[in-house]
Amino acid sequence: MIIGFIGLGAMGKPMAHNLIKANFQLNVFDVNEKAVEELVLLGAEKCSSPQEIAKKCELVITMLPNAKIVESVMLGDGGMLAGIKAGQIIVDMSSVAPHTTKKMAQFVEKKGAKYIDAPVSGGVSGATAGTLTIMVGGHQETVAKARPVLDKLGRIQHIGEVGAGDAVKIVNNLLLGANMAAVAEALVLGVKAGLKPETMYNIIKSSSGRSYALEAKMPNFILKGEFAPGFAVDLQYKDLELAVETGKNLGVPMPVTNSAQQVYEMARAKGLGREDISAIIKVWEDLLNVQVRGDVIE
Ligand code: NAD
Repeated sequence: MIIGFIGLGAMGKPMAHNLIKANFQLNVFDVNEKAVEELVLLGAEKCSSPQEIAKKCELVITMLPNAKIVESVMLGDGGMLAGIKAGQIIVDMSSVAPHTTKKMAQFVEKKGAKYIDAPVSGGVSGATAGTLTIMVGGHQETVAKARPVLDKLGRIQHIGEVGAGDAVKIVNNLLLGANMAAVAEALVLGVKAGLKPETMYNIIKSSSGRSYALEAKMPNFILKGEFAPGFAVDLQYKDLELAVETGKNLGVPMPVTNSAQQVYEMARAKGLGREDISAIIKVWEDLLNVQVRGDVIE
């Protein structure tokens, strides 16, 4: 099967590489030439636009930062829509709102092609290892056709119709964002109260306050003081915005999510938007003149 891949960033690059390793013929596009050249060296073929990708490929994966970019890659000048033909499958793996996905699906289906949403969880490490959780929305038959490709990227969970994958992804990332904000606030409180960061980690990781945010981000990022993405603050902010927006549309009060989003807003105002989400701890560290650093003891 000839595959297209658009969006070769922190996630897309290792995912595309896994498809090359699985012997798929891969065509790639990104506005970042350097990312394209890296994939070409690994065996991919370079395309000059999303339209060219759509013309050449039977299945196209997009892994893009946000809905605005997904829409421009689909509908803009040189966009995929102009190249799409009947029988093709477009798989959007970006984290966007269900209404964006449903709108894109309508455009694609008018051309006789199929659209599925397949956002992921598992971060750059999961993308590299091919162990992502893939939350899929789409018709059974289309999902079955895409399965041999998606299987190489992780574990497929077919949630429901188009948009259902995005909905569950929003719920998951609301929890990640709010948990990370709580971890950062709590650890700084602990240091101010005289606790050693390592002591907090060792106790909490086997106590009721533990979370993925603590276990994934404290030893590898916060304690080391290394905040290279990872999962960028800007992307988490966007995901919390998707949750807030969805809450507004459905009349669901979301005080915790709104507060958590403000923490990421503060981090962005400090210029931390491209750093990993664990970097939000620097907002409190700088404010209170403390640091949560230490040795990683496993
Ligand atoms: P990223 O910013 O590292 O990569 C995005 C890529 O898209 C970049 O290479 C960029 O050049 C490219 N791009 C931007 N505009 C483009 C355009 N018009 N045409 C073609 N390419 C374009 O982002 P990422 O971390 O890889 O995340 C991608 C998606 O996956 C996001 O929706 C994010 O929310 C989601 N996600 C990320 C993680 C993570 O840990 N990073 C985890 C799960 C889900």
